[in-house]
Amino acid sequence: MNEYLFDIYNRPNVVNLATNENTNLTNSIFDFIVIGSGAGGAVLSKELAEQGAKVALIEEGAIPFPWETSAFRSLLKLYRDNGFTGTIGKPMIPIPLGRCVGGTTVINSGTCFRVPQKVLNLWESEFGLVDINNENLQDCFSKVEREIHVEDADWNVMNKSSDFIRKIFTQKNLPCLPLRRNTYNCQGCGMCCYGCTSGAKKSMEISYIPKAIQAGLFLFYNARAKRILLSDGKTGKGVVVDVVHPTTHKVINKVEIKGKKIIVACGTMLSPLLLKRSGIAIDNPNLGAHLTIHPASKISIELEDNISSWVGIPQGCYSTVLEDEGIIFEGVAMPPDLGPSAVPFSGNELIHYWKNYKNIATFGFMIKDSNEGSLRFNIKNQPIYSYQLTNTDAQKLKRAITFLAELALDENPVQIFAMVTKQPNIIKNRDDLNIFMKQEHVPSDFECMAFHPLGTCRLADSPEKGVCDSNHQVFGTKNIFVCDGSSIPTSLGVNPQLTIMALATRLSQILKYL
Ligand SMILES: Cc1cc2nc3c(=O)[nH]c(=O)nc-3n(C[C@H](O)[C@H](O)[C@H](O)COP(=O)(O)OP(=O)(O)OC[C@H]3O[C@@H](n4cnc5c(N)ncnc54)[C@H](O)[C@@H]3O)c2cc1C
Ligand code: SF4
Repeated sequence: MNEYLFDIYNRPNVVNLATNENTNLTNSIFDFIVIGSGAGGAVLSKELAEQGAKVALIEEGAIPFPWETSAFRSLLKLYRDNGFTGTIGKPMIPIPLGRCVGGTTVINSGTCFRVPQKVLNLWESEFGLVDINNENLQDCFSKVEREIHVEDADWNVMNKSSDFIRKIFTQKNLPCLPLRRNTYNCQGCGMCCYGCTSGAKKSMEISYIPKAIQAGLFLFYNARAKRILLSDGKTGKGVVVDVVHPTTHKVINKVEIKGKKIIVACGTMLSPLLLKRSGIAIDNPNLGAHLTIHPASKISIELEDNISSWVGIPQGCYSTVLEDEGIIFEGVAMPPDLGPSAVPFSGNELIHYWKNYKNIATFGFMIKDSNEGSLRFNIKNQPIYSYQLTNTDAQKLKRAITFLAELALDENPVQIFAMVTKQPNIIKNRDDLNIFMKQEHVPSDFECMAFHPLGTCRLADSPEKGVCDSNHQVFGTKNIFVCDGSSIPTSLGVNPQLTIMALATRLSQILKYL
């Protein structure tokens, strides 16, 4: 941690509830209590604090500094449940989430896209969100882009997988462009998803949260909101907070924090749970429903040469060549202590993959979902998310695999690994590719991950369609709002963090007058 951040995170308004004995701090009445310090919560808190409001930001995780030096140890420290969060269905789909000050932005790849116009049109026609239009959002996007320094990725520090992919795309005159990312002076160390130790990635713990603390915000961490307190059954008046142990995450104490307006920003997978636990919107069938995730996968291309693709920007370039089919290609690379294990191979094939990991180029793709998942509870009342990959989406994944394999074969790679469980899943030549293409594949054959859960408390013009109105206020309540990925009404087709941040900026302006 540099001196500037050390000074900020050691101020008296930054409170580690696990060690704090000063109960006066929790006796105040805040203008706003924001729960969750990720893309939605951090942006909103900073904007409100800079308007002069008295804001408490409550975060279940700890401050991510000092950074760990290995990806594996970072995963244990920064990811919720050691990275084992996801959906039940065929296939089961891991959805990693951040649990630390800064939320999932600390462990994301830094890609920044504005919401596509056709998605805004859909929100207007299907959900009556007439005020959430391009004109109203322009300034919000521009403001966020300035705050987190959105720029084109620099090809000089791109990883070698991206160089290979650019070559195979451009020699066929297909687009392959640098992604826009929230970085400044990126050194290409390749660790974006495990905490950017150099501070180049302007995620929330580096950008918005320090500014909010300087503006007087109270940050309470190791603090898990258990329940929202209500007066007259519908008006938010405070939050019951479980103080959690920083490493075991077990409850060690309990406090109440009082506030006039409560904003839930726990992320798509957790915001509906907090509302349910608090008895809020429990009769609204949209609560916890409409989960979209952008199912994603990748292919690995083994080359003759050592390309050590974990060095350089992992997610630095993209292609929209199949955008009309709902497929976006984006770079992906994992460090050697994690990457070689996350593949559907076994025995000699797996050993070969491990041994030759340095020669492997990877490229990813994600699809705009045609299905929605939802939250339900098992017999022990534990929350589970179910999500079923549709056959249509499985065929899109197959289309992406075969499209990339086709291009890569022109370069005579040693072999190509497809992330499908049904064999043959290794392609050495065009005959193998033809066999792969003719093979019948069902959704459970695909090994997917997903990084963009959205929609479980979606905005709409009526409680029949959504959980919150266009001002993010939960229908049927007073002073209770939701502002995070769960507010996004539909799958975006592009990475969501910038849209979540722009909507949080917009909400900060609305809350001034409510
Ligand atoms: C590996 C990875 C790579 C990604 N790459 C990109 C990318 O390149 N570009 C992009 O646009 N998006 C990317 N994303 C997704 C993006 O980071 C998320 O969409 C975004 O951070 C979601 O913001 P949020 O505010 O909804 O939730 P989060 O950022 O997840 O923040 C929620 C916070 O709330 C806290 N919390 C939860 N429950 C409670 C509670 N009860 N009490 C207190 N605190 C609580 C959590 O600990 C967390 O810190 C990526 C995600 C992952 C996992
Ligand atoms: S590549 Fe390294 S320096 Fe660049 S943003 Fe990622 S973690 Fe930071």
